Amino acid sequence: MKVLVLNCGSSSLKYQLIDMDNESVIAKGLCERIGIEGSVLTHKPTGKEPFVQEAPMPTHTQAIKLVMDALVDPEHGVIKDTSEISAIGHRVLHGGIKFTESIVVNQQVKDVIRECFDLGPLHNPANLMGIEACEEAMPGTPNVAVFDTTFGMSMPPKAYMYAIPHEYYEKYSIRRYGFHGTSHMFVSGEVLKFCHLDPKKGKVIVCHLGNGGSISASIGGKCVDTSMGLTPLEGLIMGTRSGDVDPAVLQFIMNKEGKDINEMLNILNKKSGMLGMSEVSSDFRDVEKAREEGNEEAAVALDAFVYRVAKYIGAYTAAMNGVDAIAFTAGVGENDMKTRKAICEYLGYLGVKIDDEANNVRGEARIISAPDSKVQVVLYPTNEELAIARETVRLVQ
Ligand code: ADP
Repeated sequence: MKVLVLNCGSSSLKYQLIDMDNESVIAKGLCERIGIEGSVLTHKPTGKEPFVQEAPMPTHTQAIKLVMDALVDPEHGVIKDTSEISAIGHRVLHGGIKFTESIVVNQQVKDVIRECFDLGPLHNPANLMGIEACEEAMPGTPNVAVFDTTFGMSMPPKAYMYAIPHEYYEKYSIRRYGFHGTSHMFVSGEVLKFCHLDPKKGKVIVCHLGNGGSISASIGGKCVDTSMGLTPLEGLIMGTRSGDVDPAVLQFIMNKEGKDINEMLNILNKKSGMLGMSEVSSDFRDVEKAREEGNEEAAVALDAFVYRVAKYIGAYTAAMNGVDAIAFTAGVGENDMKTRKAICEYLGYLGVKIDDEANNVRGEARIISAPDSKVQVVLYPTNEELAIARETVRLVQ
């Protein structure tokens, strides 16, 4: 069974065609600059030369059509006919409080995705466009929506409610949702198996450390807490996002500098985090290089990043009354052994011991803790596309 996985952004579309019989990627690619001049499709069929095509893509519908053409092209295609695609799995950012699971798309599902435009203003409109474009291009092929927020829906109220007047939850569903849900679901589920933990009771903390970063705590693969909130701004220090901050800081800066709330949130989302603290870059490699060259702000930014991750791990260990495995994933988590080690150095009180040799690894699933470590520490590469494809198969079969 072949599943097409789509991740639509406002001006981009990433896709993977996966053969679910052996979970192998048959082709993947990217449409960029949709709706802007200079649109380009980059199509990478497995085992063949990549194919780059500049062609107008005024909307996501045209982009999907070009992807379909590329997939069936006699030269760089990988299937004979689009009817070979059994289903399409869509990454959808926000499902609000209505969806606690992935779901096969119908009119009602599309209505709810639209109702959640306020909660995911950058992503939900693009996600819906992608779904509607597929309905047009491949009528009759089922579409499945896999929400980034579903994993967080199993959090108990004590974890998801903000301590603000209750009326805002009633009126606007203001609560903590959490994001990177597909990644946390995938990695926590895989780690239960990889570390031979009890599938119902295993306590896992997943540190998804990329340009965006979040941590989740789960028991038996069910989320009990996660660090992002109503939006992805809450929680860890990220590439350009501040993470947790006293809201009064906003008022103070706005008053001093005559900024409005939109400008302030733009600063917290795009100019803060590692970039804002280091004044060097949002990319960990650049900040680490600057630290090596003696840049003190860069050193403080890296220390603060590690410190906050360690604090969340401590909090989540308390929330679960213990932890069996701690997993690192995403760009920094999978590639940066120094950061993994620095975080684990805070965790001696949990009996965590890192094996330096095992930790000298990038991008492959591996236990990186010593055999006598009381908690298993593991590097587990995330694979959101595969997680979406698995959910899609589960729902359409
Ligand atoms: P996104 O949130 O955009 O999906 P990724 O998970 O791809 O992010 O992570 C990208 C980040 O990973 C980069 O910004 C970079 O900071 C970090 N990264 C990648 N490789 C390394 C490395 N070898 N050492 C340190 N950081 C790295």
